[in-house]
Amino acid sequence: MNAYLDSRRRLLLDMHIPDWDEGFLASYDPRELAGLYRLAGADGALLYCKSHLGLNYWPSPVGGIHRVARERDLVGEAKSALEGAGIAVAAYHSVIFDNWAAQHHPEWRIVPASRAVGSEWTVLGHRYGTMCPNHPEYVKYEKAQIRALLERFEFDTLWLDMAFWTAVCVCEACADRFRGEHGLELPAVIDWSDRVWTTFQSARERWIAGFAADLMATARNVRPGIALTHNLAPGLRGWFQGQRAQDAALDDFAAGDLYGGFDEQVFVLALMRGFRRPARPEFMTTRTRDLFNHSSTKTEHEMLTQAFAAVASDSAFLFIDAVDPSGRLNGEVYERIGRVFAATRGVEAETGGTEITDVAVYYSDDSRIESTGANAAGFGPVAEAIPGGGSHHQDAVMGAVRALRRGHIPFSVVTRLDNDRLGEFSVIVLPDARRLSAEDVSAFRAYVAGGGRLYASGGSSLLLSDGTATGDFFLADVFGCRVIGSEDGVMAYLRPGTDGLASAMAPEPYLPIGQRLPSPSGSGTPLGIPRIAAAGGARVLARITLPFGYPSDGTLEGRDFASIHSSPPWNDTSHAALLVNDFGEGRALYSSAPVEATGSPAHEAVFLHLLNHELGLDSRLTAVGHPEVWVTGFDQPDRGRILVGALRLAEDAPRAAEPMEIRIRIPAGTMVAAVRSVSSGKPCRWSMDGAVASIDVAVTLFEMVAIELTTVRPAAR
Ligand SMILES: [Zn+2]
Repeated sequence: MNAYLDSRRRLLLDMHIPDWDEGFLASYDPRELAGLYRLAGADGALLYCKSHLGLNYWPSPVGGIHRVARERDLVGEAKSALEGAGIAVAAYHSVIFDNWAAQHHPEWRIVPASRAVGSEWTVLGHRYGTMCPNHPEYVKYEKAQIRALLERFEFDTLWLDMAFWTAVCVCEACADRFRGEHGLELPAVIDWSDRVWTTFQSARERWIAGFAADLMATARNVRPGIALTHNLAPGLRGWFQGQRAQDAALDDFAAGDLYGGFDEQVFVLALMRGFRRPARPEFMTTRTRDLFNHSSTKTEHEMLTQAFAAVASDSAFLFIDAVDPSGRLNGEVYERIGRVFAATRGVEAETGGTEITDVAVYYSDDSRIESTGANAAGFGPVAEAIPGGGSHHQDAVMGAVRALRRGHIPFSVVTRLDNDRLGEFSVIVLPDARRLSAEDVSAFRAYVAGGGRLYASGGSSLLLSDGTATGDFFLADVFGCRVIGSEDGVMAYLRPGTDGLASAMAPEPYLPIGQRLPSPSGSGTPLGIPRIAAAGGARVLARITLPFGYPSDGTLEGRDFASIHSSPPWNDTSHAALLVNDFGEGRALYSSAPVEATGSPAHEAVFLHLLNHELGLDSRLTAVGHPEVWVTGFDQPDRGRILVGALRLAEDAPRAAEPMEIRIRIPAGTMVAAVRSVSSGKPCRWSMDGAVASIDVAVTLFEMVAIELTTVRPAAR
């Protein structure tokens, strides 16, 4: 029994406050905190034990103690006050980021490779002191703190933050460890087809995951059965921070703090559910605009939408508030949170069950290989690497998720951890996943051979994780094509070869790939997508059309453009761009252009057409209505029903209800007995067309309907 894991409405007070002014936290009162949390209707609280300042809020035998916690045990006081208010409490402990340790043990600090070019910058910048997880004395220090914390307080849940690399560390401990484990010196150049670089990056990933695992083992040693997690958010950034999404396998529940808007939230909720950890995931976000803002609160509408999004995917929700340096809290903020939580509380108990998804988007940690270093391709001196957000793969994943969400197709997000269960999905989307392991490649080949239907795009499978590259796809036999070159201009076009594709992109006869963006540094990002030749058995759905003068962008003197602002389609080539290939029992659809990444209505329509019509995705659950309504569904066989959620993801509060028609295929052997709105309790209008129930709902912000089923008895003879 872990009350924190059962809680759904959680709060966290960020307390990254230094103590070099005696006014800091002087007015902090844990009883006031507990009172406001109760007012807000929270049932779970995450409590600061140590902040990024490295200052503990309890009398730790090791490390720094905040000035106000030297006379009072603030953790003990807050824990009792919150538990007294009926709120379950989990412990928050920051690692790597520790200003106290940076000042008292400078020898433990990260040594950024960028020091060679005169920059000491580490992730988040100059206010933070960050430690190297390969320094044995630093690891001992964290373990001693965690051990003492859990010996002193009865915490059932521990939340570790910031277990990621803040730089490419080139300290002696890192160099020695790399030499000891691999007999290699630290590489000076980022090159994803070079074995020394890929070995080093794999080591960085293994080391940072090992550091988190080591701290977790220490916690379990003191308190067997304790629930543990470490922040997932860095796993959604680039390679630089070294944390992988798949490291969530270490956690008892997935948790992450995210600030990227509705698209990112919908993606992360699906990713966290995909990990299938023993307890419900936790989605966290600030009540302020983001972490760098202190005095700007989100609208109540946005807060409500974000909280409902968590409910719609059966996850816990946590709002982060930041304490004033004085220690005071803003009561009005908690009144607003209270109204939000009162709304979600009404429906959260209805959720649970098995997600209804027939398509999964594959997220590849290893394909996060660009956006860092001297150029966009991700190659260059290690010393010039700076943390970047995203990669082509991540952009394409987000685009695919957005198109599915707007097309009312419920989806899952899977990772390498799911390689042995890909067959549970009728369609898998592999968006521009350039770098895969040999095991990943085998899993995709087996999936299609066994009857699965694969959509793959861009550079998918051009590189193995160990750096091996042949110039062709490792899945060439599955895709039904081989690489014969690369598109080096900034713009090209897809020319449809089927009526279905033509009507998906209508009224335009061509679908643009890439974007012309003239600037002092060039005319835009070169496409960099493969040029392909189709194999014998493949069916080509679209071919490439190029602008006049391609690949040149055109100049005044060169007379090599056809229209002065744009680069319109001109030369219809015979090069295949999009093809389907039957392989084994299944089918692959390869698109050299990641059309899912672009995000225009025409690109979305093409992507969904390919899934629905060329790959035969026949989603059990879908809907007809406004694209801003996001649809989720859960099978609840133990309650004899299916639960469907419809949440409107709109920036501003909608004024009127949006009519939606939900379509759900009813499981064989059952029939619909009744459909009612969970929110209002009222019956909904519904009708049957074969095995598909059509349900009319009106969605102002969030609507949840329960479809009650009865078993059909075979007719007696
Ligand atoms: Zn190091």
